[in-house]
Amino acid sequence: MELYYYPAYQLHQRLVKKEIKAEEICRSVFNRVSQVEDKIKAFITLTYEQALAQAKKVDEKIARHEKISPLAGIPVAIKDNICTEGLKTTCASRILENFIPPYNATVINLLNQVDAIIIGKTNLDEFAMGSSTENSAFFTTANPWDLERVPGGSSGGSAAAVAAGETILALGSDTGGSIRQPAAFCGVLGLKPTYGLVSRFGLVAFASSLDQIGPFARNATDLAWLLNVISGHDPLDSTSRPEAPPDYTDFLVNNVRGLRVGVPREYMIEGIDVQVKQVINQALAKLTALGAVVEEVSLLHSKYALPTYYLIAPAEASSNLARYDGVRYGFRADNAVDMIDMFKKTRSQGFGEEVKRRIMLGTYALSAGYYDAYYLKALKVRTLIKQDFEKAFSTFDVLVSPVTPTPAFKIGEKTGDPLQMYMSDICTLAINLAGIPGLSIPAGFVNGLPVGMQLLGKPFSEGTLLQVAYTFEQNTGFHLKKPALKVVSGQEAGQASSLVPEDQ
Ligand code: GLN
Repeated sequence: MELYYYPAYQLHQRLVKKEIKAEEICRSVFNRVSQVEDKIKAFITLTYEQALAQAKKVDEKIARHEKISPLAGIPVAIKDNICTEGLKTTCASRILENFIPPYNATVINLLNQVDAIIIGKTNLDEFAMGSSTENSAFFTTANPWDLERVPGGSSGGSAAAVAAGETILALGSDTGGSIRQPAAFCGVLGLKPTYGLVSRFGLVAFASSLDQIGPFARNATDLAWLLNVISGHDPLDSTSRPEAPPDYTDFLVNNVRGLRVGVPREYMIEGIDVQVKQVINQALAKLTALGAVVEEVSLLHSKYALPTYYLIAPAEASSNLARYDGVRYGFRADNAVDMIDMFKKTRSQGFGEEVKRRIMLGTYALSAGYYDAYYLKALKVRTLIKQDFEKAFSTFDVLVSPVTPTPAFKIGEKTGDPLQMYMSDICTLAINLAGIPGLSIPAGFVNGLPVGMQLLGKPFSEGTLLQVAYTFEQNTGFHLKKPALKVVSGQEAGQASSLVPEDQ
């Protein structure tokens, strides 16, 4: 196997044994990028020179017999809404097209401290609003399993890069499903941590009460390693939890005996593809065979999650995005007659259609006269949704559901109908409203496309979710399948059809 497809924990072992160099890992990943990136388009920015220089420093440490951290020399791709000092952070928006942050997000400082290698910034839906990366102002990322399909979103670039071997690990952000849904579509693991576990400092805010940064990986062990690095208290984020998190690798145990698994009825009803349901049912049968006790449970207010989310998230977004006024950041429109005209022109030209739709929705929901009827009502329903989960977790250790109603859809299939696009997050939105952790793991395939299983737990039970993921992985192996990208000979380089996925 090529180094770019190795698990991080194995690369670490080989680094420590001096079998390979960090520089080789770095080169392997960038070679892979040069092979497939013209078709996948996962990255907005690549950092070849800096990455290589950092890798060499890790090699020097090893040569000096210094102890290295578990993620030292391991390539990580970063969603382009996470601030990186001196490195463009665009949020895939024209309005931040040339924005170079003067500081690092806390997660970036944490990665630097352990000598992880940041290899680039990945594509997303503009300001993380979307489910397909089609709302990126720059380009759409392709799904490595089928280049005509979306990788999911909004962290589609990160998920696609991990799936295609263009990186070993990645970070994304999840406000309503943006880590879990692309992880499911791309056949990798993605975790939305409990609200407060990972610092949001330096994450460009979309909806501050819902946003969380989280890891992508190709196996549960790597996911735990990355979570170990990025989790923990940060005085710069007032919503960050003061208690120290556990060592997540302690939970990598192959055992689910006696685990109480609840299956929310509302997540397995109409609207969910029959074949997706079959995959989840087979996975549940596997967990049962391994000793888990699986039962149905009801989350009564599930059907309100989508309208509640689409009031709260746009309301917060309309306030968060007020700062992009042509004065403080990036883009400013020309030819304005006065200041108000400059604001108007800058925002009309700088934001894409979906972002403007959200700002209008949110401003409306917050406006005097509608505040009680929409925003305040949504907050009350949010509490009911949270209470549904609390009740379920008084009986169950984890809940299991599909991540998405269907496997990855075709590029262009849903762009004309925002509601259809919103529906693709029907299984993930409530989790952010409740603030609980959600983990997407590869659970099977439908017509050659990956299907994700969502594991949910009570607040700060990431360890339990990782234990289930690890056990499932050890006893199945869906996570080991790779999209077979191949170059068709005779095609001209740069042609969209020159790379096609092979059959499984
Ligand atoms: N797809 C959802 C939205 O468009 C969730 C996005 C996210 O989690 N960032 O808002």
